[in-house]
Amino acid sequence: MERNLTHIGKPLLHEVAAGSLDANLDEVGYRSYCHRWGYRLLYGAMETIDCASREIVIAPLIDEDGGELIGRHRTGYDYLMIATGSITSDFGTPGVAQNCLFLDDRVQADRFRNKLLNHCLWVSHAMSENADAEQFVRIAIVGAGATGVELAAELYTAASALHYYGLEVFDESRLKVTLIEAGSRILPALPEKLADAAGEELEAARGARIDRRTGHEHHAGVDSDANRGSHRGRSESLGRGSARRRQPQEHRRSGNHGLLSAGRATDTTDDPR
Ligand SMILES: Cc1cc2nc3c(=O)[nH]c(=O)nc-3n(C[C@H](O)[C@H](O)[C@H](O)COP(=O)(O)OP(=O)(O)OC[C@H]3O[C@@H](n4cnc5c(N)ncnc54)[C@H](O)[C@@H]3O)c2cc1C
Repeated sequence: MERNLTHIGKPLLHEVAAGSLDANLDEVGYRSYCHRWGYRLLYGAMETIDCASREIVIAPLIDEDGGELIGRHRTGYDYLMIATGSITSDFGTPGVAQNCLFLDDRVQADRFRNKLLNHCLWVSHAMSENADAEQFVRIAIVGAGATGVELAAELYTAASALHYYGLEVFDESRLKVTLIEAGSRILPALPEKLADAAGEELEAARGARIDRRTGHEHHAGVDSDANRGSHRGRSESLGRGSARRRQPQEHRRSGNHGLLSAGRATDTTDDPR
């Protein structure tokens, strides 16, 4: 069962967000994939699980016009494997949920890209009217792990190509990326030599700023007014924290009802019993 009809790998989402990858070309259609590999696709979103009757309740399927295509319905199981993935945690940091963009799925990546392109267009337009205009696209990325660092690099690459696509006076010097990292260095999972080289490339060659907050000096919050930029006055921060479980707690506790979980859906900081 899947609530989307196509799949694009999450590790590609930062490329979709930056515009360097066309998700339409890289996505896999579940219907043909299922046909190819010989299993059934049940299109829909699991809403709840009825453990007593061993049934999944599937949410109503809504069409593009908001009409109900198929009403709420059920399907039975002997064993249920839950692999619903995870979403980025804001670690309870005030303002993050309200003001940050997240990169957990295709919709969010597309939204980021559209906002980015709109903002670049606005800066380009402002500069074509006044060449001395001090206008920039400012993006803060929270978390300098592999995804944050790759995204920063992809953004500069994308910005440097925009003048080929009609934004004649726009170039990468108009992009200001700040990478915010609570640890003492970027790419903590990789060798220090590699991390240093990547940091140097980003800062010296691309012009990114790396804001390192060591030890327990974590960022206290995200305030939309504190961000400047955006074509109407504010810029966006991009959150990439660690994964948070998606399925409701009662599902996790139902160990003797044929329920199993796999993938990132198993990540938890709670007692998993
Ligand atoms: C931006 C980004 C970059 C990453 N880069 C890397 C990387 O370079 N290397 C690496 O190893 N890992 C990377 N990861 C992590 C990796 O993508 C995840 O660990 C992996 O996708 C988890 O797989 P999963 O099958 O558990 O969950 P997911 O891939 O999240 O799949 C869960 C699926 O369940 C569906 N679903 C959710 N809820 C419901 C519901 N109620 N009903 C029906 N369907 C539902 C979703 O639509 C989704 O298709 C990255 C993650 C992100 C977000």
